[in-house]
Amino acid sequence: MDLTQLRAAFCGRLHTEAGEMAPFLTDWRGKWTGRAIAVAQPDTAADVAAVLRWCHLHRVPVVPQGGNTGLSGGATPDTSGQALLLSLARLKRVRAVDPLNHTLEVEAGVTLQQVQDAAQEAGCLFPMSLAAEGSCTIGGNLATNAGGVQVLRYGNARELCLGLEVVTAEGELWNGLRGLRKDNTGYDLRDLFIGSEGTLGVITAAVLKLFPMPAARVAAFVAVATPEQAVGLLQLAQARLGPGLSAFELMSDTCIGLVEKHVDAARLPLAERSPWYVLLEVSQHGAGGQDEAHALAALEALLEIALDRGLATDAALSASLAQFRALWALREDISESQGAEGKTIKHDISLPISHIADFIATTDAAIAREFPGLRLVVFGHLGDGNLHYNLSPPAERSRPEDAAAFVALEGPLNRLVHDAVSARGGSISAEHGLGVLRRDESARYKSPIELKLMRAIKAALDPLNLMNPGKLLDLEAKETPR
Ligand SMILES: Cc1cc2nc3c(=O)[nH]c(=O)nc-3n(C[C@H](O)[C@H](O)[C@H](O)COP(=O)(O)OP(=O)(O)OC[C@H]3O[C@@H](n4cnc5c(N)ncnc54)[C@H](O)[C@@H]3O)c2cc1C
Repeated sequence: MDLTQLRAAFCGRLHTEAGEMAPFLTDWRGKWTGRAIAVAQPDTAADVAAVLRWCHLHRVPVVPQGGNTGLSGGATPDTSGQALLLSLARLKRVRAVDPLNHTLEVEAGVTLQQVQDAAQEAGCLFPMSLAAEGSCTIGGNLATNAGGVQVLRYGNARELCLGLEVVTAEGELWNGLRGLRKDNTGYDLRDLFIGSEGTLGVITAAVLKLFPMPAARVAAFVAVATPEQAVGLLQLAQARLGPGLSAFELMSDTCIGLVEKHVDAARLPLAERSPWYVLLEVSQHGAGGQDEAHALAALEALLEIALDRGLATDAALSASLAQFRALWALREDISESQGAEGKTIKHDISLPISHIADFIATTDAAIAREFPGLRLVVFGHLGDGNLHYNLSPPAERSRPEDAAAFVALEGPLNRLVHDAVSARGGSISAEHGLGVLRRDESARYKSPIELKLMRAIKAALDPLNLMNPGKLLDLEAKETPR
């Protein structure tokens, strides 16, 4: 295809050499690799619009990409080599801060960490936090409706966004950059684009909600015997701490064992091992000078009751920033430590919290029965009902043919886990999106009417199916009513 007109249409970079394109064509984990006619890196929203107008004119599919850290294959093109990879990474301006309105306007390619830093410079907090924050972009966070570790208190990406600027599939620039907390003026277009994984349009900028900076944050690492106890502890913590409870994470001893094995500095902060642990965080606002002491006192009082009621067996509190970070590192290093063990099979599920303990007990038992020897690596944002219900092959099997045999179990394991999730009214993608990884799985569990409505939205906003085709929704599939 002749790219001369495209090259002339915008000011950013256009890569066509294989070596230049390669980093954009494989995802962060190296699970998917695709091909593209070119990689476009525009510098401004107007340039993005110019690129999309060209794509629309020439019927070229577009795959938007931010930091390329997504875990569902949504930012990788297919292998046909027909699509243009559109990287938003050079849209990097922090456009405006409004400390009185508690809002920040940023372009799509600003990384999550840069957003947090810009908020901090204005004396405010942008609370979204996840392990990929140094690389993922706010555009990608919104396109996937990302979660992370502060959702319990502040909500997902959707709850943190007030307005969007979007380039449509036809290359028109929609300015929806409203900094309003109330706006009942018809269909909410912003909410359509959030979580649409690049299949409806390209997010070029956003107005984000800011919050007062907490005066103190303290954490506790708590031993609990069972997920049931962890749920009981969550209920108690919510009742005692109210909005002061800013994170509540669950992890099994297997997870912590992997972190100790692969991260030199990692140490269990408790004298005895326990089958499960909870990491909980308390944020204190404006108690005046005694903030840290107040937060610690609240946490100590909670843990005393929890120990008394048999909801916990032991606990360690962070008495310094270094200890706070060390406790959080135990949780945040789980994914990478599991990756260091070889192939993984991951499930990013959410359930009503009342069903979590039963789900874990029943599904663990079914897996032990039907797939003996597999290691369960279960952790997640219990406060949001979100588990990363992951599996690793048996420790003693490390030959290449063992890895292949393990990967072949993905389909049957997905069926077992996702059926158990669906039976309890849960979701098979809590925060990572569908991409290509869970597109067909999701269609299995959604009702025909829900799929029909989703296809109608796609057809209305992208009638030529040029926006990230093949991701999130299969337009060809025919449902058989369940
Ligand atoms: C170590 C690690 C930890 C993680 N932890 C979490 C976690 O706790 N919670 C969580 O939710 N996720 C987590 N993730 C997943 C990932 O970081 C998020 O999905 C993130 O939001 C992706 O942002 P990105 O900029 O990298 O997007 P990409 O990977 O580049 O793209 C993701 C999807 O969004 C689309 N897209 C990207 N930018 C735009 C845009 N500007 N306009 C329209 N569509 C766009 C792409 O086409 C693709 O479908 C983690 C990932 C890693 C590697």
